[in-house]
Amino acid sequence: MSLKKVIRFQNTLAFRLTLWYAGIFTVSSCIAFLLFYMLITSVIRGRTDQDLLNQVNRFSAILVTEGVEAVKSVAVIEAQAAGVKKVFFRFVDLNGQAFSSSNMSYWQDIGIHKSALQQLLRGNNYVFETISIPNRGEEVRILYAMLSPTVILQVGQAMESYSRFLDAFQGIFITTMTLLIVVAAGVGWFMARRAVSGIEAITQTAQKISGGTLEERVPVKTRGDEIDQLAITFNQMLDRIQTLLSEIKEMNDNIAHDLRSPITRIRGIAEVTLTSEKSLSAYESMAASTIEECDRLLDMINTMLMISKAESGVYKLSLQEIDLTGLVRDACELFRTTAEDKGITLSFDEPGETHLVGDTHMIQRMLSNLLDNAIKYTPSGGSVTVSIMENEAQVVISFKDTGCGISPSDLPRIFERFYRCDQSRSQTGIGLGLSLARAIARAHGGDIQVASSLNQGSTFTVTLPKSLPSQT
Ligand code: ADP
Repeated sequence: MSLKKVIRFQNTLAFRLTLWYAGIFTVSSCIAFLLFYMLITSVIRGRTDQDLLNQVNRFSAILVTEGVEAVKSVAVIEAQAAGVKKVFFRFVDLNGQAFSSSNMSYWQDIGIHKSALQQLLRGNNYVFETISIPNRGEEVRILYAMLSPTVILQVGQAMESYSRFLDAFQGIFITTMTLLIVVAAGVGWFMARRAVSGIEAITQTAQKISGGTLEERVPVKTRGDEIDQLAITFNQMLDRIQTLLSEIKEMNDNIAHDLRSPITRIRGIAEVTLTSEKSLSAYESMAASTIEECDRLLDMINTMLMISKAESGVYKLSLQEIDLTGLVRDACELFRTTAEDKGITLSFDEPGETHLVGDTHMIQRMLSNLLDNAIKYTPSGGSVTVSIMENEAQVVISFKDTGCGISPSDLPRIFERFYRCDQSRSQTGIGLGLSLARAIARAHGGDIQVASSLNQGSTFTVTLPKSLPSQT
């Protein structure tokens, strides 16, 4: 493996998780072992100390009842019975001079500690100490005790079996721990790999997407864990991006198409004027047509800008108290002639005064767009009815027509920019009116709903709060 690969491997999440897992496992096992070791040590030492004290108590009792000689001979017998390499007894006077002992040939290196004697003379009943015998690596637990006011007993017990036990314990621990750490690292690695495999799939998908294939999706397992949630969210985000991109593409195509028609017309007018008679009236007519086409273009571009501003919240609404009934009445009056010319009955179920806080100009545009559509898409002999309802918090304006209606497949798309249903292509329009109307309603904290049946008519319902949410 090259150095670069090693560094990359060390930086992987799986490697670091494994390291943490194995590290925490090792440290906590060592702490547990240390505590256990200390507990065992203190239990064994406590037991040894208790044995030594029992011995001293027995000797004290014998001394009181049978005298010092009896104690000496019992000590010799007991040391032999236990094994001269295991126990020794030594009788010492107050000056630290030994005057009797069991067989001390094995314990020659053990002396009498002055400090222990001094502690006894100061009033301590007994003094314990642990001595390591040089060259033998063996430990002895020793107890000094006052048998009588003039006799001190030094009794020692080899800790050999105790050391053997602890050595065995350490050996077992080290072997077990080595095995366990290897197993723990293996298990940790497996678990970490399993956990991050989902992330790797997401990374691979993201890499493929950067390579240009937006159709790629992350495979979702059925574990339902956080990684699955991430994969689902990631896929949803991709769906959304894909839809947005195709919408943008479609919109670009529409814009290109809608810009091309007036520009082609302007060019055509200019060309015809140039190639035909060059009279003043022909130039005037060309200029007038050019202005008309340019106005249409400008209107379309301004509408698009206004939709973007209203949708993104950049457009600063000029808010004021509006007499909505009056505004709708005026809008109906404005369209009355158009409706009559087309043979359509336009009626307004006028309620009493209704008020709301909003941007008059924007709301006028919204009302005009909806009224214009209702009249435009209703054939002669039909009717358009406008009504207003209100409750404490909001007003609902509805535009009901008996026009061509909208098919269920078109219905979800009519608010998209430039979207036009097939059956309405014969009518003038560029497909921005509803987008703008909804953007205005939403900018006011409201919305527009539509219900429609093909060839029977449509009802557009605008819901607007009486005051904007931030003002309540
Ligand atoms: P347009 O300029 O085409 O009228 P709109 O955004 O106002 O653009 O409307 C989008 C499409 O929704 C229209 O092309 C038409 O197909 C459909 N539409 C809107 N209003 C009505 C209506 N009242 N009745 C039937 N179809 C409608």
